[in-house]
Amino acid sequence: MSCLFCDIVAGKIPAKLVHEDDRCIAFDDINPQAPTHVLVVPRQHLATLNDVSEAHQPLVGHLIGTARQIAAQRGHQESGYRLVFNCQEGAGQSVFHLHLHLLAGRSFRWPPG
Ligand code: 5GP
Ligand code: ZN
Repeated sequence: MSCLFCDIVAGKIPAKLVHEDDRCIAFDDINPQAPTHVLVVPRQHLATLNDVSEAHQPLVGHLIGTARQIAAQRGHQESGYRLVFNCQEGAGQSVFHLHLHLLAGRSFRWPPG
């Protein structure tokens, strides 16, 4: 089964990379919803957050730490940023390869739409 983010991880589809390491990559969202809109994506294919087992929890922590680091590098540490996992279609998930949205650079409302 083909997967868009597996193809980006493999370098078969181009993306504007902002970070890469042995466990994840991060790249600019193609349809940004804020001045900073970065997707932090594990190299391993996991379709949704529901597929994350206890053994994957360090990986999820690494995704969050990576997003936090990118937010700090871009000067959003004090002004604020939002991290989002959309899990399943009902929550807005459209790409079924786990990813963490980092959104920053504007103010955000709560609750989200
Ligand atoms: P989701 O809706 O699954 O939470 O988030 C998927 C995100 O992937 C969306 O924000 C969408 O704009 C982004 N996206 C979809 N296709 C591509 C692509 O080909 N390249 C990049 N960089 N982002 C994409
Ligand atoms: Zn995948």
